[in-house]
Amino acid sequence: MTTISTNLQAVRARIAAAAELAGRAVEDIRLLAVSKTFPPERVREAARAGQLAFGENYVQEGLAKIASLADPGLEWHFIGPLQSNKTRPVAEHFAWVHGIERLKIAERLSVARGEERPPLQVCIQVNVSGEASKSGVSPQDTAALALAVSELPNLKLRGLMAIPEPTGDMALARRRFATLRELRDALKRTGLALDTLSMGMSHDLEAAILEGATIVRVGTAIFGERARI
Ligand SMILES: *Cc1c(COP(=O)(O)O)cnc(C)c1O
Repeated sequence: MTTISTNLQAVRARIAAAAELAGRAVEDIRLLAVSKTFPPERVREAARAGQLAFGENYVQEGLAKIASLADPGLEWHFIGPLQSNKTRPVAEHFAWVHGIERLKIAERLSVARGEERPPLQVCIQVNVSGEASKSGVSPQDTAALALAVSELPNLKLRGLMAIPEPTGDMALARRRFATLRELRDALKRTGLALDTLSMGMSHDLEAAILEGATIVRVGTAIFGERARI
């Protein structure tokens, strides 16, 4: 067995254990393997071990990897910050975008996606860490953005995403994730059909699952430490 398949098994076991602790069905939690900085061969290795959904942060790197891995079956998620001059290739080549924080970006993605393709699946990124984080829309502004995004024709708003500030404090981590869940639940009560909470990474996926994560985004625990770039 390769290291990646061993790592994947360990991550899946952590997800299953956390799901059991939370009293949740393990099928309700998807694993997104974050392959940023790792070459296509590593992605292929993970795919051979049954992992089909991958997350990328950088547009050029992601596009190159998608082009070199023509395996049908693979599903690509853009999870990094997105500038408006890069919306077209992302709309054309990715299935999901997790980090929507401005309406203008969402509008451009919708136009570029067009009507011929299935809708682009998107999540709104929320800043649940206050001053400790700069990215994501504030909790107060989430409802208005969600409503506007949900009306764009070629996007399908699936839910909310967050990257809380790193902390070794499990109680604090859970509080951040709970904030995202409560926001999602409040939006659902206004009539938006949201089924996704994209939250939890290598070091905090258990806390995220305990608070309702439906997608955990895991890089290091699968592919190893990233080189600093
Ligand atoms: C890099 C990254 C991850 C994965 O982080 P790890 O700590 O390596 O698991 C998850 N989500 C986002 C948005 C990232 O940029």
